[in-house]
Amino acid sequence: MLLNYTLPEKEAEAAEKALRGEDILYCLPYDLTPDGKFTDGYLVITGTRLIVLCAGQVDKIVPVSELAGCCCGELNSSGMLEVDMDGEPRPIVFFTMEHMARYSMAERIVTDLIEGRRPKAVSVDDEKKCPICGRPYIRNTRICRNCSDRMGVLKRIWRVSRPCWGMYGILLVLFWLNSAFMLLSPVVSKHLINDVLVHKGAGAGLLPNLLWLVALTGLCSLVTTLIGAGREIVSAKASNLMVRDLRNDIYSKVQSMSLGYIEEKKAGDLMQRINGDTGRIQRFIQNVAVQAINEICLFIGVGIVVVSYNPFMAMLIMVPIPFALLFTNYIRNTVRRRYHHQWRWMDKLTDALNNVLNGIKVVKVFGQEEREIAHFDSVASSVRNTTCRVEKYVYTVFPIARFLIGFGSYFVTLYGGSRVLGHTMSLGELMQFSTYAGYLYSRLDWFSMLPRHVSEAITSAQRVFEVMDEESLPEPESKADADNIRGDIRFDDVTFGYKSYKSVLKNIDLDVKKGEMIGLVGHSGAGKSTMINLLMRLYKADEGDIKIDGNSIEDYSLAEYKSRLGVVLQESYLFSGSIINNIRYARPDASDDECIRAAKIANAHEFILGLPDGYDTYVGEKGQRLSGGERQRISIARAVLSDPKIMILDEATASVDTETEQQIQEALARIIKGRTTFAIAHRLSTLKNANRLVVLEEGRVAEIGSHNELMEKDGIYASLVKAQRTMTAMSVAIDAEGGGRGPGGRGPGGPPR
Ligand code: ADP
Repeated sequence: MLLNYTLPEKEAEAAEKALRGEDILYCLPYDLTPDGKFTDGYLVITGTRLIVLCAGQVDKIVPVSELAGCCCGELNSSGMLEVDMDGEPRPIVFFTMEHMARYSMAERIVTDLIEGRRPKAVSVDDEKKCPICGRPYIRNTRICRNCSDRMGVLKRIWRVSRPCWGMYGILLVLFWLNSAFMLLSPVVSKHLINDVLVHKGAGAGLLPNLLWLVALTGLCSLVTTLIGAGREIVSAKASNLMVRDLRNDIYSKVQSMSLGYIEEKKAGDLMQRINGDTGRIQRFIQNVAVQAINEICLFIGVGIVVVSYNPFMAMLIMVPIPFALLFTNYIRNTVRRRYHHQWRWMDKLTDALNNVLNGIKVVKVFGQEEREIAHFDSVASSVRNTTCRVEKYVYTVFPIARFLIGFGSYFVTLYGGSRVLGHTMSLGELMQFSTYAGYLYSRLDWFSMLPRHVSEAITSAQRVFEVMDEESLPEPESKADADNIRGDIRFDDVTFGYKSYKSVLKNIDLDVKKGEMIGLVGHSGAGKSTMINLLMRLYKADEGDIKIDGNSIEDYSLAEYKSRLGVVLQESYLFSGSIINNIRYARPDASDDECIRAAKIANAHEFILGLPDGYDTYVGEKGQRLSGGERQRISIARAVLSDPKIMILDEATASVDTETEQQIQEALARIIKGRTTFAIAHRLSTLKNANRLVVLEEGRVAEIGSHNELMEKDGIYASLVKAQRTMTAMSVAIDAEGGGRGPGGRGPGGPPR
């Protein structure tokens, strides 16, 4: 989020005087007056003052030293930044919801200043609009069509295709040869017409001449066909080579990105960039960029020939071209706008499809197929309508443009024909000239489409380069040895938020001894999963640090650290492949025996042997051929295999039946022995083995202690336990009324314990 806008000239001048040499730390725009009218203003934050600028004037200056607090509040569909001054709340600026997130950050910045801390908020340019021209970025990107350096992107495509430069050289030679033969062909036709077909009198050498010239025409055609085939093969090879490298680069880049970035971009969008955009670049190189060399060579060649042959007729060819170009330029802008409209609908269609296919289970469970079909149909209809409108426009105006471009050929025929009739030009020459004119017109026609292809390719390349230019997660110099991790963990004043302006965990302090089991408890949304996400290093703490055996968690090599973690989540993800390969995923060098031993510890061996192909059984996509409990036990075996020092169990038994749960609990109890364990469980009874329970409330540690201590305290934990007992009692009563649900059945709160 951009937090440091550049002030417009007038405001900058006004601010200059008020600043008195101080640096601007942050500069945020606001857009409402206190009575709700639109305005253009800025809030400038320095180390000591808040300066409010409105319509090029300083409106107010508020010294930070006089403030007791700061708060960003929501009004009716707008927001307000308010400070606490002289014991009273005073509004500073008003803004539309567009700026809400920015001012939530401002609240933290001003609070930091008031409390004497240096503000840590950084200005990151993830705006929806370009700060330079104010136009919206291309969807899901930070690319402005208006301000981006398009030439720079083309140059970069050229640099990226370096391994193909040799092949481009070969293509250039082939194009020159092709152009030469294309230029030769009308010359042969001219001789065929002049010297043979319209030759007066029956000369003895006419027939051999006819044969010879027809053979030459055929040869020209054969050679251009062969050159064309060679050209296609080489350009396909070059573009495939380039695109393979590009795909590998972007794929490796995505793997090295933080989870936050990948979640923000969405899988569908990244897939589109890795596959769709690179494919578009490939088609551009193969069909357009390389072809452009051919077209330019031919255009220049034919241009030189026609001008040197007959400058007046060359001028006749060119006369309508400027008008045609003006017309094409005019329609291109309209076409571009319509294409963008069409793309937006296509994006919505992809989104709709993605959404439904990802949540197909929910759709089926709620029987919403008809509704989803209707929704899809309405989006698809809009795509069809916009596409039809675009096509109708394109197929009307472009033929007109083509007709205008080629209009000069009528002048050529008229003028040339009159000279043929006046015997100052031969028919063969006129035919040759007309063919050259045709070459020129089809090149111009091709060039008129070039901007669209270039524009599409540039957009795709920008989307690809945008990912490649993102900063990867830095691989820390491994200052600490992960092999010897014992498992002492300390959360040291940890604060973290998925969005930098909204903290989810606040000043967490927690000391955990090696081998201890910690149960994380709290209402939904309290921050339990976030805490283990930080421990798994999926995200990095904004403030504070997590220490493992006294070393910062960041000091361990990421790969080595992860190899010391064992993780069992609620929804265990299995990759399509065999069971043994899924177990081995945690440690690719593990032997079959080690995998089987791990499966035995995880109580999975028995059921695996019962499957048709045992350990080689194919689990299907996402492991769908196995039950939830079976998948869970495989993921436990996977966790065991790496002999972790730290275990993380996130609702590991939430979605399995009672019998399976017992088996899983048994396996878990076996594997957590001697390992530092963090466990989250909705059913509090499953945390009975925990040495301590940590109760989180709105991102803060609210209570710590054993089950008995916390029950005695009669606080949040006790109320959670009581609520769960009530739920369990109710479900038992309902089961009893309904005659029970058979073995393994349980109510929403789990079995009574
Ligand atoms: P708990 O595990 O206690 O139910 P979480 O740690 O999952 O809570 O979530 C804490 C808060 O963080 C919630 O408000 C949730 O909406 C938010 N949150 C969780 N994951 C993300 C995410 N990937 N991006 C943004 N916000 C998230």
